[in-house]
Amino acid sequence: MTKAIDVEGNPSYIRILDHGFVGLIDTMGDDHAIVQAARVSYGSGTKSVREDRGLIRYLLSHRHTSPIEMCEAKLHIKIPIFVMRQLVRHRTASLNEYSGRYSEMTDEFYVPAFEDIKPQSTTNKQGRSGEMPGLEKERAHNIMSRIATENYNEYQILLGKDDGGYNIADVVGVSRELARTVLPVSNYTELYWKQDLHNLMHLLKLRTDSHAQYEIRVVADAIYNLVQPKFPLAFEAWVDYVRDAVSVSRMEQLLLKDLLQGKSVQQLMQDYNSQTEFLEHYGLSKREFEDLRARWQLN
Ligand SMILES: Cc1cc2nc3c(=O)[nH]c(=O)nc-3n(C[C@H](O)[C@H](O)[C@H](O)COP(=O)(O)OP(=O)(O)OC[C@H]3O[C@@H](n4cnc5c(N)ncnc54)[C@H](O)[C@@H]3O)c2cc1C
Repeated sequence: MTKAIDVEGNPSYIRILDHGFVGLIDTMGDDHAIVQAARVSYGSGTKSVREDRGLIRYLLSHRHTSPIEMCEAKLHIKIPIFVMRQLVRHRTASLNEYSGRYSEMTDEFYVPAFEDIKPQSTTNKQGRSGEMPGLEKERAHNIMSRIATENYNEYQILLGKDDGGYNIADVVGVSRELARTVLPVSNYTELYWKQDLHNLMHLLKLRTDSHAQYEIRVVADAIYNLVQPKFPLAFEAWVDYVRDAVSVSRMEQLLLKDLLQGKSVQQLMQDYNSQTEFLEHYGLSKREFEDLRARWQLN
């Protein structure tokens, strides 16, 4: 894998997690390339969308996305395999990953920092939240580190690199493609990732969101920090119309319309015998209601 010297002090790279990084290798196009492509569809007769910033904001706010596909970014990323499994779900990228068949996997494994070790969330089945005793964190940290070391030793044994107390004659000759099967998904992998700007923005919308797992969120945040300066107008519009925009369901709209009449949630609830009856009226589940309440800071 890439030597640390390629990354340290390189302004195109951001270190993430304990052994990872995100680097910006190349971009194609800029804000002007988006405008140039968009103007093809409007023709010279259209006067109202002359100004570049205004046009880009119009494109993003109306989801006229094909001009944004004219730009691209190529990234160099090093992340744990379990984060790679999430990243690779974004099918619109072109990528090339380190080969555990061709080369030996490294002894680098992700072990979360103490502050990132948290218990299972009680409200979000896919996430972690809250705190746990320091002693339990320490035990979790130790188990994760120990498993990584032990499995890497077994990997070396399978490759015939270390006798580790075993009879080496029994294991020599196992191929790299089979030996790697004993490594945990915390093992680091490395890849090149190229994606057009529209689909990269879609990835960033999903993976910078607070519902995404922390470990992929830091990848997405680093991508944003590296790519944003290359397309400042497009990202300004993306933040305003996509990233920080909220979608409102039909049921939420009903409640919000009633609240806009000047009543508080508490006052509206008084018209019903119970909270259940109130929620039934708007067709909201308790979770949807609590989510809406938090998003709009409703009392
Ligand atoms: C918080 C979170 C939790 C998740 N949990 C899970 C989980 O538990 N299990 C799981 O398996 N996945 C999970 N995912 C992955 C998720 O379901 C998507 O696969 C992933 O986010 C990629 O999104 P995408 O398909 O929109 O993106 P891309 O693959 O980048 O596609 C971009 C867009 O292209 C279009 N597109 C691409 N391919 C097709 C196609 N074959 N057919 C139609 N349209 C296509 C779609 O419009 C799509 O939105 C989770 C994602 C997030 C963000």
